[in-house]
Amino acid sequence: MQAAVYKSKQNLVVEEIPTPEPKSDEVQIKISHSAICGTDVHVYLYDIAPPNTVLGHEFTGEISKIGSEVTTFKVGDRVIGMGGNPPPGQEAPLRRQEQYNYRLEGITNSRTRGYAEYTVLKEWEPLKLPDNVSNLEGALAEPCAIVTRAVRLSNQKLGDTVAILGAGPIGLLCLQTAKAAGATKVIVSEPSQARRDIALALGADAVVDPTTQDPVKSIIELTDNNGPHVVYECAAAKPT
Ligand SMILES: [Zn+2]
Repeated sequence: MQAAVYKSKQNLVVEEIPTPEPKSDEVQIKISHSAICGTDVHVYLYDIAPPNTVLGHEFTGEISKIGSEVTTFKVGDRVIGMGGNPPPGQEAPLRRQEQYNYRLEGITNSRTRGYAEYTVLKEWEPLKLPDNVSNLEGALAEPCAIVTRAVRLSNQKLGDTVAILGAGPIGLLCLQTAKAAGATKVIVSEPSQARRDIALALGADAVVDPTTQDPVKSIIELTDNNGPHVVYECAAAKPT
């Protein structure tokens, strides 16, 4: 099968690699869509994965083979390649220890992930996609889960005013989630004109350009001098 293989710092090569076959407790997925996560970009930019890693964890596809012990999936089921509940002892590192070190724990095995035609997962790992969610939409389930958790943790209430710093994929998903959770006014601060335009198209009530406006002053003014009830930091930039 074809895969985009990480070779070295900022060097991905599309090449032929063996198609992974499922063990008795595994499923094989024919991948249809794979999103590019910020962590994949970090791996690519800063060389955080071993050579010959196949990256990509935000993907959807169809079950193409099942192991002999698999009972919860059948060939043809549409799935997202994560989200299942791990059995005891196999939880993500973050749950096992307080400080998660991506460099040491992020990619420590040679498993083939989403930047390939096929991958293999344990039966517990994928989740079935509902009929009303397309494979394209499903590939965004992981970043959607991140912003859903952020909105829940924020204690945002119905009718709150909200500011979002940064309109990258996470900020834009956060905007839509904050609106769905009942925010009546959402203000987005973002230096890129193209991203500000998308924020407006996706429902932002106002946008601020932090390169030409003082974002704090502007956001306070846009909330009748009260300031927003909740601020979501989605830029991960030093000034924010
Ligand atoms: Zn991700």
